[in-house]
This record gives sequence, C-alpha cells and structure tokens, in this order.
Amino acid sequence: MPHVITQSCCNDGSCVFACPVNCIHPTPDEPGYATSEMLYIDPVACVDCGACVSACPVGAIAPDSRLDTRQLPFVEINASFYPDRPAGVKLPPTSKLAPVIPAPEVHQREKPLTVAIVGSGPAAMYAADELLIQPRVRVNVFEKLPTPYGLVRAGVAPDHQSAKRVTRLFDRVAGHRRLKFYLNVEVGKHLSHADLLSHHHAVVYAVGAPDDRRLDIDGMGLPGTGTATELVAWINGHPDFADLPVDLSHERVVIIGNGNVALDVARVLTADPDDLARTDIADHALRALRKSAVREVVIAARRGPAHSAFTLPELVGLTGSSDVVLDPVDRQRVLDDLATVADPLARAKLEVLATLGDASAATSGLGRPRIRLAYQLTPQRVLGDDRASGVAFVVAGPGAGAGTGEVRTLDAGLVLTSIGYRGKPIRDLPFDEDAAVVPNDGGRVIDPATGRPVVGAYVAGWIKRGPTGFIGTNKSCSLQTVQALVADFNAGKLSDPQAKPLALDRLVQHRQPDVVDSTGWRAIDAAEIARGIGDGRPRNKFTNVADMLAIAAAERQTQPLRRRLAARLRELV
Ligand code: NAP
Repeated sequence: MPHVITQSCCNDGSCVFACPVNCIHPTPDEPGYATSEMLYIDPVACVDCGACVSACPVGAIAPDSRLDTRQLPFVEINASFYPDRPAGVKLPPTSKLAPVIPAPEVHQREKPLTVAIVGSGPAAMYAADELLIQPRVRVNVFEKLPTPYGLVRAGVAPDHQSAKRVTRLFDRVAGHRRLKFYLNVEVGKHLSHADLLSHHHAVVYAVGAPDDRRLDIDGMGLPGTGTATELVAWINGHPDFADLPVDLSHERVVIIGNGNVALDVARVLTADPDDLARTDIADHALRALRKSAVREVVIAARRGPAHSAFTLPELVGLTGSSDVVLDPVDRQRVLDDLATVADPLARAKLEVLATLGDASAATSGLGRPRIRLAYQLTPQRVLGDDRASGVAFVVAGPGAGAGTGEVRTLDAGLVLTSIGYRGKPIRDLPFDEDAAVVPNDGGRVIDPATGRPVVGAYVAGWIKRGPTGFIGTNKSCSLQTVQALVADFNAGKLSDPQAKPLALDRLVQHRQPDVVDSTGWRAIDAAEIARGIGDGRPRNKFTNVADMLAIAAAERQTQPLRRRLAARLRELV
C-alpha cells in the first residue's frame, strides 16, 4: 500500500526530508526539481510509514487505498517517474537531511540578527520560517494589505482549498514570539528602504510579481477585456479588485494563454455555484456566478497541444471536475503530436487530451458550462467598437512560426489574457526590465553598474526568479536567500541597525496610524471564520479594507482591558 502524491502537491519538499527511505523525488538538490510539476513517490521503495503525510503542509499525500476516483490517475503518475526495475529490487535506502543554515554568530556582537521581510506571501513566510529556526533572530514582516499570505489568500482558486491549507504552517510561523507583523504598511510609501535598513541588519524583498504581462493587440482595454489574474483576485475578494467590472452576460468567455491560471479561471467560471458556495469565494463573485449566462469558456493557446503550459496534475484535476472538450481539428493535432513527441511528461498530457469529449457534440454531459481547449491560435485583435464582442486569431501552422494565413474569430462577451505575471520595480533597488526581476545572485541583490552586492538587500520568490513554480517552490528559494543573508551577517558584512527596537514601532505608528499587528490580523481572521460558519464555509472574507481595519481597531481597544484582567488573574492564582 504505497503512498501517493496527488494534485495539490505544493513542491515544498517537506515530505522529502521526512521520508526515512529517500523515496520522494526530485529532491530540492536534484536537477529537474526547479521545473518539476510535482514530486513523486517511488511505489517500490515506499515503506508505507506515513511520515510524508504528516510533513505535507497541504494534505496532498495519501495511501493508494484511500484515494477517491478523481485521485486514482495519480497512482500511475507517481510510478511513471521511476524507471522500471526487476520485481523485488528496491532502491537502496539513503537518508536525506534537510539543509542546515549555520547559526548567526551573535555572541560576539551586541545585537541579534534583525531582518525586515517585505511581503507576506509564501516566499516571505518560508524565509521567516528559515530565519526563526535559529536562536536570537528577529523578523519583522511588512505587508501593504491588512491581511497576510499574498497569493495563497488572493491567488489560489477558491475550489483549491487543499492548497490553501499551507496557511496553517504560515499561521505557526506568524505566531512565533520573535516575529512581528506590520500589516497595512506599504514599503515605498509609508517606509523607505533606508528606513528599514536603519532598523534592521537586512531587508528581504519577497513582493512577488504583482503585475500582469500585457498583450499588445488592438482592442485590449475595451470594456469586456481584462486579465485572468485580475479575475482571480476579484474571485478571491482582494480589496483592490472588489469593484472590477465582470460581465458574465454573454454565452462565451475567451481566455488567451493556457497556463494553470487559465485553467483556474475556466474551472471557476464553469463550476456549480452551489459547490463554490462552500468555499471562501468572495460573496460578490458568487452572486455574479449565480446569475452568469456563460455556457462555454474557450482556452486559446498559440502553440500546439504538446506545448500546453498547464501542468499534468492540474489537467487531470480539471478533467475530473469539469466538462472539457476539443474541436475535431484540435483532436487531430493531439494525435499528430502523440505520433511524434517523445518527452514522457508531454506524452502524458497528450494522452489525457486524447480522451476528451468532442466539442461538436451539442450539450455538456454535466449540464453545466463547458471548457473548450483550442490550439494554434495567435491572438490578432479584440473585436468590437464600444466593448469586446470577440477575438480574431491567426491560425498557426504546424511548424514553429509558420502561419496558415487563415483567420478564425470567436464571439465572446469577456476576453481575458492569461499570459503570465510580471514583477515590478522596487523603489531604491535595481531592476532588470527584460526579465522583470531584481538582479541578484542567489538572493543577494546585485548592482548591475558595479556587479557588486547591494549591502543589506535580498530577494526571494517571484521577484528573485520570475513567476514560475508552485507555492512550495518558494521554500528552497527562500532557504537559499536566507543562507546568503546569514553568511553575510557572520562575515561581518551587514551593519548593525542604528535605531533602537522600540523606535520602529513609533516610526510606523507615525507614518501609518492604521498599522495592523498580529493581534489585529488574528481578530480579522477569527471574524471571517465566524462569518462563514453558518453557511458551511471555511471563511467569508472581508473585501473592504475599512471593514478589516474596524475589526482590528475594535480588538486594539479591548486589549488593555484584557491585559489588565490577565494580570489580575495572575495575581489571584
Ligand atoms: P504560464 O504558465 O507562464 O502560462 C502563460 C501562457 O501564456 C502560456 O500558454 C503562453 O504560451 C501564453 N502566452 C505568453 N505570451 C503570449 C502571447 N503574447 N500571446 C499568446 N499567448 C501567450 O503562466 P500562468 O498561468 O500565469 O502561471 C504562472 C505560474 O503560476 C506557473 O508556474 C503556474 O504553474 C503557477 N500556477 C500554479 C497553479 C497550481 O498549481 N494550481 C495555479 C496557478 C498558477 P507559450 O507557452 O506559447 O509561451
């Protein structure tokens, strides 16, 4: 009864280090880890101890006997990563120990290592976790929203609650007594890089890639056009996107690009609203989806099926939950690719695609809107004068760069681009416009003019390596940055902070009186959970900053009273 890793694998590698027989690969130090779509358990070497189950932060691992029907394909997907070997021959057990960061050498110095982390998404929280494992390290986390956890809260689709379970790990990190949250504080507006450096030895920017890559074709920008990432933020109740105009009154939505974000949006737009009502989807999105007239979402890729950008786990998950179809011409493309493509992962995706239903069939088998995967369509322009009414594509030929000259149009009331995220410049740091990342060497920010590190400045996550990978990919990314930071501290390369610790609180209060601390966040968190309980939802999010601040402020007012009561109780006991 070997264990199996399923769709929500976050790639953070915690299972790798928990496994006593080294049967989970690729490991973070193996080639291929950075680009691997998930981790895989060797069914022959697995000793069925379940250590990986406890270590996995998102509940993605189960014994093969406890999988539901939708998860069964993952038995084969895990096994297919490992070479065939004669029956009974196991790989030799080896131990794999988690990499250890050398402790900061604070004994010869006056002050503990003090680090500011900007951002509170996965890269930030994994960096905080790695830092706080060491004694005498203090971490202050700065986040511009009153709520932490970045894309886990605002980017992971609401029907992927399992992936959101990683917040339990982040809650544990956030609850550490040497971590302080400064939420609702924007670095670059309320505080500068110099402000942070005068209160910390180092600053780690883990700000992600908050912009979208833009598609420069005529008609983008018309009402009825937008980006898939904005829609995901709207669905997830991000306060900056709560008023996004989302028109679902037309029968078709077209999404340009076929990465996992496109799949997320298509899945949610075609899901049964009653199922979504049991998630943490924003109320405004649920209301709009209940009234939606959408019957079909087309995901249009510019290349052929063998180059699909979505991952195999997400494709398997999609086909298990949604009605996904192909046009006959695209089915033929899938079969043609299957005849020529050798790469095992691409073949596995093609084999799933070859099983999809035929788009020429009139109705959806599930009675719900369907998703049509379309290929070799290069977007040319958005149609419509006052608002989007469709998209014109040039049909690409089979060879790279070859066009057929044929133009194909698709009617649509909503046209979304889903062509990737993009990092944006950080005030006072260098920026590589082409790669849209902060130039760095293993997390140390590098000044391109001199080729030397910018003292005290570090990056982790998407602003360091670009918008690729999964939640857990950030664990090894942040570990590398923290290793560099601690090495620099131990080598005496970081200056001690000039200001006294309490001065930071005073400065922040002065610049942003509405700062929300850990207690404020816990109050917002508890209120959201309480709002959701009656409807059987994990939480009902606030989508308005003022509402969040009101909860945090009410909590602040009761704090002195609670502290007095707690002190009185201690006296009495
Ligand atoms: P992505 O995976 O990079 O996909 C981008 C898509 O846009 C590709 O299909 C690409 O086509 C297409 N594209 C780029 N430029 C284009 C253009 N000018 N015209 C037409 N198409 C264009 O991006 P993403 O979906 O935003 O995902 C970002 C990262 O987050 C990925 O690593 C993804 O796996 C991850 N993610 C994971 C999950 C999950 O695990 N559930 C969910 C969401 C996101 P080409 O391939 O032809 O360039």
